[in-house]
Formats: sequence, structure tokens, C-alpha cells
Amino acid sequence: MSTAPAQGRQPPAPVPAPTPAWQPDTVVLHAGYDGLQHQRSAAVPIYQTTSFLFEDAQHGAELFDLVQEGHIYARTGNPTQTVLEQRIARLEGGTAALAVASGMAAIDITLATLARAGDHVILASALYGGSHNLVVHVLQGRGIASTVVGRGDHDALRAAFTPQTKAVFLESVGNPSGDVADIAAIAALAHAQGVAVVVDNTSATPLLIRPLEHGADVVVHSATKYIGGHGTAMGGLIVDGGRFDWQARSDRYPQLTHPDPAFHQVVFTERYPDAPLVARARTVMLRNAGATLAAHSAFLLLQGLETLALRMERISSNTRAVLDFLQTQPQVARIHHVAHPGHPDHGHATQYLRGSLVPGLLSLELHGGRPAAQRFYDALQLFLRLVNIGDSKSLAAIPAETTHHLLPDAELARVGIAPGLVRLSIGIEHPHDLLADLGQALGHAQTATALPASTPDLELLQEPS
Ligand code: PLP
Repeated sequence: MSTAPAQGRQPPAPVPAPTPAWQPDTVVLHAGYDGLQHQRSAAVPIYQTTSFLFEDAQHGAELFDLVQEGHIYARTGNPTQTVLEQRIARLEGGTAALAVASGMAAIDITLATLARAGDHVILASALYGGSHNLVVHVLQGRGIASTVVGRGDHDALRAAFTPQTKAVFLESVGNPSGDVADIAAIAALAHAQGVAVVVDNTSATPLLIRPLEHGADVVVHSATKYIGGHGTAMGGLIVDGGRFDWQARSDRYPQLTHPDPAFHQVVFTERYPDAPLVARARTVMLRNAGATLAAHSAFLLLQGLETLALRMERISSNTRAVLDFLQTQPQVARIHHVAHPGHPDHGHATQYLRGSLVPGLLSLELHGGRPAAQRFYDALQLFLRLVNIGDSKSLAAIPAETTHHLLPDAELARVGIAPGLVRLSIGIEHPHDLLADLGQALGHAQTATALPASTPDLELLQEPS
């Protein structure tokens, strides 16, 4: 961070560290930034530079030796990015965070920090298609095996651990399934085996679920989604919970507890006892993989983050309105959302969701299957047809044809995705306009579709058969 004093004046007294009592609504606006340390700029500046000056030869050497903290070269960090990292670490209740170029980079770097050729990773929930593909196919090519455990199947999870297992990976709220994972139960099983738990908290955001409070050890995000919130910048985040006892499991995680030849023989648990995972992710994985977050993207993500709490409130109330509406529509065969008491994860939702907020992802199936879904999809006028989620605008996608098209039918069925499933990501528009658009599009779906005599109700909100 820049330490330049305000021009022409004595440096002011340091501002006291922010109070830990801040609510998330305040953290998103203020944490990790003191404008008096940045030329008195009230907004977080964009540090558009590739490199940072050394005061002298010794300063440069000490920065490289990790004896002094500070930026060196923007591949591993920049002050705009630092504010984003500190804000997210604070929001999630972690000890440190690393911002990278995308959500996929965050997941890849996290797993590569923990596992290497010969190791094993467990997937303990339905995942975003790209994450599933990364672990099951791409990591396999790098010699890292994986086991996919069915949703909520704790016996299968217990049986999946091997001495080589380095991580249990899951999504707090699944994309697109909307399932809410039993994080505490999964973490208890993993910790009994001495294995770290990595939770992708993209679809929930820390406003809805704080996985570290429920036993997770590492949280990852695609900041491209709700954190940015405006569909203008890609980004990813890795948050170190700071509580996993890597030293006690030194045989399993030698890359964190033994001298690392990839970075000056540093022992990360000794040099960075509060956040060794994020420290190694930055200094070894990001430094060599180069999946750097651009300073301008960090700025855009920070702009979006400022309104995260407000957006999640509106997204939640809009989602409830959409759910109430869809339940009255005869064209709708099934709706998948945890808000309904009939959903198998409703209990987990009650346990893990903070306040009365509900996730903004929901999916529906129409009578008439895939053709009806396509007619409905093509008729949408306000919902944007694209594959992103978490924008302030409402979005729609057909996962089997887009995000999950690489998955064979058997894997699609296993992750609960019917071919005609339409995923909606609810935004912050006026609810009346959203309902009007859905209503007119459902009218188009109905064309040439024989509807059941009565409005389905009991069938709604059940898992796909
Ligand atoms: N995790 C989840 C839950 C996602 O939905 C996505 C993308 O859709 C990713 C990770 C990957 O993020 P990115 O697109 O920023 O690489």
C-alpha cells in the first residue's frame, strides 16, 4: 500500500482499526481502506501500474525475501486489489484473501495449492459445470484423482477419503441446483480425517451464508457474479479461514509445512501462521500461473461490492415474489428453490441462511419438457438470455445446453439437471415487471402444449425425478 502523506501537511494520526462490530452492510463500504493513506482519495484509486519502486537495494531484497510486506510486481498484487481482498476477508470472517482473474482461477489455484500429482479431491455437492469439469477431467490429467459423492450421502463421503485426499470441495448454494449444502456435517466428516474443506460461496455470498462459521477452512468466489453485481468484470477470490491446523497434518500438507523450493525454501505455516494457504497461493501459484486480476477490474468489483447488501435484500424479495407467482402458473411442472418447505434442503436453508434472505437462483421445468422450455426462453423480453448469474439484471439460461453441455446425460441426471430445466437468476428490477415478463413468456410456452386439467401444486418444488 502507498504510504505517501497528504501533500504539504503533516501525516495525520493513524485512523483506528475498524471496529469488529461492523455489520456486513458497513464492511462492504469501508473495510480495508483509509483514504488518508492514498493521497486523500475518498474512492479507492486504480493503481494502473505493473511495478512498484524500491527505496534502495536492501528494500528490494527484503520484499523478495518476504521480510517486509509490500507490492513488488503487479502479477501478485496491487493496492486496488488489496482493498478488495481485505474487504472480502472481513466479510467472510477469514484472516486473509487473494483476488485473482476469475472464479475458475480461484478454484484451480486453491486446489493446486493443496493437491499435487498423486493426490485426491472429493466433490461433496452438485457443482457449477465448469468446476465439475475442472476437477473430474482437467485435474485428472494432472494426476489428481477425484471422487464425486452424491448430495447428502454422508456414508459415501465417509468411504471416499484416502490418505491422499487433500480437499473436500462443495458449493454452499449449488449452481444451478440451488441446493443448500450441510456444511457443518461435511466439515465434521472431513476434519475427522484431517482434510481441509473448500466451499464455493458464489451463489450465496457472505450476506446469505458464512461458510467459515460452519466449519469450512477455505472459501472461494467467482466475484464475476454477485460481488461485482453489474456484469462488467471477471474476478475470483480465495479466503483463508486461518483455523485449519496444517502443522498437525504435516504429512498430508507438506507443501505448507515444509521448506518450499518453489519459493526460497519458505515454510508457509511458520512465515504466515494466520493465512498460510493464501500466502502460498499468492507467492507460488499466482506468481507462476499469472492469473492476475487487473487493477481496473478490482476497482469495478469494489464498486459493485459497495451495494451487495442492498442488492441481496432486493434479489431475495424479488425471488420470493417470482416463486409465489410461478406456483400459480399451470404451465410450470416443477420449481426448484429451498424457500419452499417441501424442498429436501429446506432444513439446511433454515440452518445456514442468515436472516430472512433467500438465494436468487431458481430453476423451473415446464409441462412440455425441452421444447416448451425453449419457447418460454425465446419469448423472454426482460430477462437476459445469457449464462452468467448474480447480475443486478435478471438473467435466464438453459444449463443442459450451455454451462453443463459438456456433461453426459448420466452426469446431468446425477447433478439434478433435467434437459428442459431453465435457470433464472433474479435481479433487482421492479417485481411487477419481472412477473409480467415471466407471464407473457409462459403464454408462449403453452402453445401446442397439452396442460394438465388443474394447476399442479404438490409437484412443485420437488427434486427432479
Ligand atoms: N463458481 C460458480 C458457482 C460459478 O457459477 C462460476 C461461474 O459461473 C464459477 C465458479 C466460475 O467463475 P468465473 O466465471 O468467474 O470463472
